[in-house]
Amino acid sequence: MTAKPLVAVTGASSGIGEATARAFSAAGHPVLLMARRIERLDAMRLPNSICRKVDVRDRTAVTAAVRDAEAEFGPVDMMFANAGIARLGDIGKQDPADWDEMIAINVNGVMNSVHAVMSGMMARRHGTLVMMSSIAGRKVYPDHTVYCGTKFFVHGVSESLREYLSSYDVRVLVVSPGIIETEVLDGVKDPDTLANYKANKAAIGGGIGAEHVAKLILDAYQLPQNALVQEICITPTRQKY
Ligand code: NDP
Repeated sequence: MTAKPLVAVTGASSGIGEATARAFSAAGHPVLLMARRIERLDAMRLPNSICRKVDVRDRTAVTAAVRDAEAEFGPVDMMFANAGIARLGDIGKQDPADWDEMIAINVNGVMNSVHAVMSGMMARRHGTLVMMSSIAGRKVYPDHTVYCGTKFFVHGVSESLREYLSSYDVRVLVVSPGIIETEVLDGVKDPDTLANYKANKAAIGGGIGAEHVAKLILDAYQLPQNALVQEICITPTRQKY
């Protein structure tokens, strides 16, 4: 057992999840890293880490990974339900299979991650759920229709969970970034949508680094358990909408 509690991160193989896993590891926490690209997790070589090839759509696999890590490092004190994809596209033309995939990962995957740790946190009356939404969970954008739906879901559930878990002293923090430099655009198949997004991004001078989001999550986590940052909304300064 290490002195600092275990932190679990879904979607730890790139972008915001990877940056957050690195930040908590550097702060001395053991970390459970989950994603489908296990080779990326292994390559991070973080101390006191457990890497698991987990698809967040598989509730049993998420729970099993958490149980394995807890057997080694003690209870998960923070779950970052971060894994997500953005199949952005014109809703009138988009293949509904893309809708299903976004809903399965961004909605069901987040709930599977919550499920794996929530009852333990309630029993211990300690813990933090970090829920990955987006600025697109606060307002809508062209070609973001179902993506926005998934992120509005995360916002709604997070607020309800926050109220419910407050009497158990469990914190719920929702993260709502604007444009962050990650691999998220790899999931955009529609060439027009991708071109428009990239043009808008270039016009505002690009996105910001994932390490800034990670630092804010670490800062919020490090506050005493009776202090909750309810939401982190961070965007490039020049991002108007
Ligand atoms: P990346 O594409 O860099 O990271 C996405 C991560 O999610 C990867 O680690 C990927 O791992 C994982 N993932 C995707 N699908 C699954 C799955 N089925 N099971 C397990 N893991 C999965 O993008 P970001 O870091 O940007 O994305 C992280 C979160 O941030 C997402 O929820 C995204 O919606 C949100 N977000 C991003 C913004 C941005 O501008 N970048 C803005 C606002 C929110 P692997 O493929 O190895 O499984």
